Formats: sequence, C-alpha cells, structure tokens
Amino acid sequence: MELSSRVGTHTAFLPQIKISCILKIMAHIKVKTAEDILDKSFEVLDKGFVRLVDYMGGDARIVQAARVSYGEGTKTVREDKALIDYLLRNKHTSPFEQVIFTFHVKMPIFVARQWIRHRTARLNEISGRYSVMNDEFYLPNPNEVRTQSKNNKQGSSSEDIDPELAMKVIEALKQEQTSLYTNYKGLIANNIARELARINLPLSLYTEMYWQIDLHNLFHFLKLRMDSHAQYEIRVYGEVMAEIVKAVSPLAYQAFEEHILNGQRFSEDELELILASLDKDKFLANLRKSELRKTRRQELLAKLDL
Ligand SMILES: Cc1cc2nc3c(=O)[nH]c(=O)nc-3n(C[C@H](O)[C@H](O)[C@H](O)COP(=O)(O)OP(=O)(O)OC[C@H]3O[C@@H](n4cnc5c(N)ncnc54)[C@H](O)[C@@H]3O)c2cc1C
Repeated sequence: MELSSRVGTHTAFLPQIKISCILKIMAHIKVKTAEDILDKSFEVLDKGFVRLVDYMGGDARIVQAARVSYGEGTKTVREDKALIDYLLRNKHTSPFEQVIFTFHVKMPIFVARQWIRHRTARLNEISGRYSVMNDEFYLPNPNEVRTQSKNNKQGSSSEDIDPELAMKVIEALKQEQTSLYTNYKGLIANNIARELARINLPLSLYTEMYWQIDLHNLFHFLKLRMDSHAQYEIRVYGEVMAEIVKAVSPLAYQAFEEHILNGQRFSEDELELILASLDKDKFLANLRKSELRKTRRQELLAKLDL
C-alpha cells in the first residue's frame, strides 16, 4: 500500500506485482559504458578537461518517453534503434530532452565565452570575485599557431606556419601571461579586492564550470561546435563530449551522426539545381539496390518530390 500511494493514485488498486513492474520499467537507468567513465577527466588542450559528473537516462529513456502513451517500455535493440532513428530524423525532439548530462569542464575564458552562448544549458562557473584565480593560461601547441584565413574573416588559415614564428608567438603569449599574473598577485598581496584585482587577466586564463544540458540541446551544441567552421579550441571539447554522449546514448548518437552531424540541408534553389542535374532512372535503380529501409526510401522520394 505504501508503494502504491507513492507511484500515484491511478495505480493505487493495482496488484503489488504490477506496481513493481511499473517501477522497474520507469526506474533510474544505468548505462554500463557511462558508469565506466563517470568522474573520469578527459584532457583537452594543454590544461583543460571534460568530466562527466552525472547523467540521467540514456537510449532506454528516449524510447520509454516516446512510447509512454502506449504504456510500453524498451523492446529489442533493433526496434529501439529504429524508433530512435525515426524520432531524430523526423525532429520529434522531446524524448531526447529526457536525457540529461552534467559536465565539469575546464576551459580558457575565450572558449567559455563561445560556450555560454548556448542558452539552453544551466551552469555554475568559478567566481573570480570569491577565489584567487590559478596561474593557468592556455598556450597553443606550436602546430596550432595559425595565421589569419584569407577568405574567412572569422577563421584561421590551414597553411603551415613557419615553426620559428610559431615559437615566437608562444613566447610572446607566455611573457604577457606571466607579467599579467605577477601584477594580479601583487594586487592580491596588497589586499586589493579579488573582484578588482582580476580585471586585467586575459582571455587565455582557464576557468571551470559545471554545465548541465539535455541531449537534444547538446546535439545542437555539438553540431555547431564540431563543425569545421568552429574554432579549433572549442571543437576539441566538442569531440571529447561526443565520445561521452556515445557512452551514454550510443543509438541516439548514431542517429545524430547519420542525420545531423554528417547530413546536409539544401535551400530551394540548391535543391532545384541538384534535381535538374539528376539522372532519375539511375537514381531510382540505385535506390532499389540500396540498404535503406522501405520507410526511409519513401521519405527520400517524398523529400525529392519524386
Ligand atoms: C561558427 C560560429 C560563429 C559565431 N560567431 C558569432 C559572432 O560573431 N558573434 C556572436 O555574437 N555570436 C556568434 N556565434 C554564436 C551564435 O550566434 C549563437 O549565439 C550560438 O551558436 C548559440 O546558438 P543557439 O542560439 O542556436 O543555441 P542556444 O542558445 O542553445 O539555443 C538553442 C535553440 O533555442 C532557442 N532559444 C534559446 N533561448 C531562447 C530564448 N530565450 N528565446 C527564444 N529562443 C531561444 C534558439 O533560438 C535555438 O533555436 C557564433 C557561433 C558559431 C557556431
């Protein structure tokens, strides 16, 4: 009776065995591959890391949430995979919001500034008003000292840089970091308030935060920040977090990779151009031979209006 009152009035008259079955299906989900990496720090850049502090749900939660209206839980892996793929490619996004990640992340402030533009997360950051900031600054690896891109005003060139110049750049950054931090420590030693002493510290200083986000919005973050147009220094965090997502929700990650990360969206005029250049017979013959399931074939034909 105690159990039934806890699971809600609509189950109050169900036999005990039925109640324990409901609790089993809906209970806290543990994913072995996620448990294995919980609390482990994955190094990023020269001094940063990503650590999975906690997670809630996984692939099983996505299918439970999607099937809740039918009172069904998970089925076979094959059926769950097909359902997750269907949900993701049809933008039925709310079941993915049922999976939650809490990360502890350490990154340079210039990376954090890009990171916190993602407003759908909840975060707590180290306070430079409260704590004396550590002497930890980002210094790029010599291979990652990049020159300005000629065609992308916001990006770097992929051309190799003269190694001697790269070392000079690193040395200049290091000198400035040392000087700024020495001044900062001097102000702190003279009892200047930490909130004021810190104001000249540079963007290369490392900061830390607890960052919590659901899987749907994390996919959005990863799509933008793993893209080749994203800055290298945030992309590498995205790549590590992608591995963590794979450990928590492997089927959802596979669908994300297939339909979002490695997929493309076309504008109307681009699509017209592609269709005008398409050998329709060859396309239909290849489609028949392809491994795409029947529903996927139908969806593709509908997308192309064929
Ligand atoms: C390569 C690159 C270059 C960039 N360059 C610049 C730049 O030069 N300058 C600059 O300022 N920014 C820049 N940004 C940041 C960019 O404009 C976005 O702010 C950032 O990527 C977060 O994206 P988002 O708003 O879709 O994500 P989120 O904030 O996570 O939002 C996710 C979704 O929720 C919606 N949403 C969230 N909060 C609200 C709300 N309060 N009301 C309504 N809808 C909401 C969003 O519209 C979006 O669809 C850049 C980003 C990238 C990836």
